[in-house]
Amino acid sequence: MQYISTRNNQQGCTAAQAISQGLARDGGLRTPMYIPKLPKGALEQLCSMSYQQRAVYVMGLFLEEFSAAELTGFAAKAYSLDKFDTPAVAPVHTLEDNLHCLELWHGPTCAFKDMALQMLPHLLTASLKKTQEDKTVCILVATSGDTGKGALEGFRDVDNTRIMVFYPKDGVSQVQQLQMTTQEGDNVGVCAVHGNFDDAQTGVKRLFSDEALREKLAERGYFLSSANSINWGRVLPQIVYYVSAYCDLVRDGKLTMGDKLNICVPTGNFGNILAAYYAGEMGVPVGKLICASNSNNVLTEFLTTGVYDRNRTFYTTTSPSMDILISSNLERLLYAVEQDSEAVRGYMEQLNACGKYEVSDKVKAWIAKRFCAGFCDDAQTAKVIERIYRQYDYLIDTHTAVAFDVMEQYRRETGDETAALVVSTASPFKFCDSVLTALGQTEIADGLAVLDQLTEVTGRTAPVPLAGLRDKRVRFTASVDKERMEDVVLGMLD
Ligand SMILES: *Cc1c(COP(=O)(O)O)cnc(C)c1O
Repeated sequence: MQYISTRNNQQGCTAAQAISQGLARDGGLRTPMYIPKLPKGALEQLCSMSYQQRAVYVMGLFLEEFSAAELTGFAAKAYSLDKFDTPAVAPVHTLEDNLHCLELWHGPTCAFKDMALQMLPHLLTASLKKTQEDKTVCILVATSGDTGKGALEGFRDVDNTRIMVFYPKDGVSQVQQLQMTTQEGDNVGVCAVHGNFDDAQTGVKRLFSDEALREKLAERGYFLSSANSINWGRVLPQIVYYVSAYCDLVRDGKLTMGDKLNICVPTGNFGNILAAYYAGEMGVPVGKLICASNSNNVLTEFLTTGVYDRNRTFYTTTSPSMDILISSNLERLLYAVEQDSEAVRGYMEQLNACGKYEVSDKVKAWIAKRFCAGFCDDAQTAKVIERIYRQYDYLIDTHTAVAFDVMEQYRRETGDETAALVVSTASPFKFCDSVLTALGQTEIADGLAVLDQLTEVTGRTAPVPLAGLRDKRVRFTASVDKERMEDVVLGMLD
């Protein structure tokens, strides 16, 4: 299967090249030329398989140059019981007959990024071998909190890789920051950027498109790649859990094969919900895709009006992993609709030049058929955490709460009671302060004592990787202006 760039669909490359490259040289995103369909009967077969087997099957359809044996090895390592605290890997928790929650935070960093970032290093190192790349790959990551830690855990001490993570200095939770600054491994670096997530992400994108830097690094034996959700190797493993969730619901008698399933995803960079869309294209009976945002509701506006406008106030919210004004993966959706890389390039040029574009009527109509969108502010997020806890005895984090609220708004407004899957993207223990406040606590403990406080209040135990932070040493304390990120990279790759 060929992978094109969303900004130039004339020059295809292989999956291995797409994954090695991260971003295409023209700034576009590498995307499969078409989305393969699940063969007839495949979904039924997948119902009786393990998560790992489902991953091998689904990913295999996109990765022709990878053998089933290779993928089986990757899936065994990525989704082992050393890494995930449940053999189900991504279990579905049922709240009501027609309301389910997909828990994507059972991995080593307690957020959904693990689902892809445990797999990506295997895909990437194998891709490098297949493309006969002998330089050391340097992964650059801009993170709004969870990607950074997920990538650090995925890549730590992986041969022939280095990883450098930039996070916004005041844009991540205390637990998130400690998770990163205490990271172990000989090939890792972590640095704070003065600014917000978009500053960090724009800075990293600039490094990627800097040809002079590329040459300097090549001389030293390095080349740059990305672990951000723009890398196809990030999106692909995410398709698996949507297929898997549907199979679990059928296997457990909650759905009959063929029943539609609405899916509501708390969204930032648009990678997670894009994977749900691709699962639908493959043949999973997906109903509406409901895009949930916090007060940074640029996607709510886009999906309802067709106007993308990043010229707006940036809010720092209690769901920081969604504090994003430029959703990079939306570009892949635009390509899926337009099938025209010139049109996509035009939109992205307008976005660069004036921070705004409006899609054609064709695109608007296409989106309206498949997507709905809504947003939820911090006050409402807190109320939802409290209510879901009282009503279902189910503890959720702030991001998941945004999705629950938007799902409920959708049902109220449309009367559509189709079975729904709300995607839960982080453990509540990753955002203790906000969760405790939502549950009515007025005094919040300092530092990691918040973990104990949440345990006292709810009787739940903190996930082992978070509880273990207490014993870790802070290794990385540097911060940098966004204009000076290049120096940090060159310093690390001396
Ligand atoms: C990254 C993240 C999101 C947003 O996911 P996208 O794929 O960027 O849309 C939502 N919730 C949490 C907890 C995250 O870490």
